[in-house]
Amino acid sequence: MTLQELDRAYVLPTYARNYVHFVRGENSMLYDAEGNDYVDFGSGIAVCSVGHGNPRLAAAICDQAKKLIHTSNLYLIEPQALLARRLAELTGMDVQTFFANSGAEANEGAIKIARRYGTDDEGNVKRYKIITLEHSFHGRTITALKATGQEAMHTYFGPFPDGFVYAKNIAHVYDLIDDHTVAVMIELVQGEGGVQPMEKEEVQQLAAELKRRDILLIVDEVQTGIYRTGEVLASNLYEIVPDIVTLAKGLGGGVPIGAIMTTHKNILKAGDHGSTFGGNFLSTRAALEVLDILEERKNSGELDHMLLLFEERLKSYVTKYPHLFEKEVGIGLMRGLRVKEGRDAADIIKAAFKQRLVVLKAGKNTVRFLPVLTLTKEEMELGFERFETALGTL
Ligand SMILES: *Cc1c(COP(=O)(O)O)cnc(C)c1O
Repeated sequence: MTLQELDRAYVLPTYARNYVHFVRGENSMLYDAEGNDYVDFGSGIAVCSVGHGNPRLAAAICDQAKKLIHTSNLYLIEPQALLARRLAELTGMDVQTFFANSGAEANEGAIKIARRYGTDDEGNVKRYKIITLEHSFHGRTITALKATGQEAMHTYFGPFPDGFVYAKNIAHVYDLIDDHTVAVMIELVQGEGGVQPMEKEEVQQLAAELKRRDILLIVDEVQTGIYRTGEVLASNLYEIVPDIVTLAKGLGGGVPIGAIMTTHKNILKAGDHGSTFGGNFLSTRAALEVLDILEERKNSGELDHMLLLFEERLKSYVTKYPHLFEKEVGIGLMRGLRVKEGRDAADIIKAAFKQRLVVLKAGKNTVRFLPVLTLTKEEMELGFERFETALGTL
């Protein structure tokens, strides 16, 4: 059996896979089984924040694996405590953190915290409603899926938990607030929804109004977090302090980890929530190394330099290929080219792949760029050279 046949026969087909077989990588470069090189402007959907095959991350993982990978949360875990402190210090937030294993799971935990906030100590539910946005994406578990404001994703899996309502946009959130509202959950840049940034002033006003009304603000930073937008959190860039921030994708550099940071310390007690794997030695040690690497890159000015160059190039394509692109969207190294009406982003992505450049699709007909945060100028040039060759074939 070929690998493709094996995959088709034995793996549940939940993904529209491209059957390329990557076998190794080096920062932004991927290599397939035939030895072809690809420039990766997708970084495993914003996960490989420190690039592929990063020697520092690999060394930290190997070192930790030889000592302890897992003991369970029944005992002290030094890198978990260090990571929780590091996240508080880097983000400037006065928070405690719970560690999970994925974005959906982090959002589930955030929703549980909000529900706990709306319930009194005797277990009487006072407030439970959570407002989320249309075109949002919060994950694939039943509750995170219900929180996701895309009706098309709710077709088969009901009945869903109650208490989620969807606002068309931030201005519409106010109309949906009632006596039962306990939280509002948003992404500051909608990733899957088309790389759509929220307006800073609108977000700041919302944050202030929610605080005034004692309604929690949950910011899903699963994709925007960990320097993706240029700051450690998009919340830092927007200059807001949410009640709850969720993280996952870029935090472990590819090692599965999720996190829920909350300013409401001690809101959950022993037994209220938990995870067997969450925050184990391996994932938290990996995340500590990822943060070291990225903080250095931020402090050296390289990250800011590269994201400006990247943005400039994408903007130039809107001018240069007006028949293909309508506008450039996004923040930092989370960017997109919105494709002209009548054109299909999928065709552009296919053409790019033929030139051995990996780019992604996002809702609203957008070609999405999520390069590794350790991207070099040479890699960027090579990637865009291939992109222009691809555009020339369309
Ligand atoms: C990817 C993503 C999720 C889901 O994360 P998983 O790790 O796939 O569960 C949730 N929210 C946002 C904003 C995401 O981009």
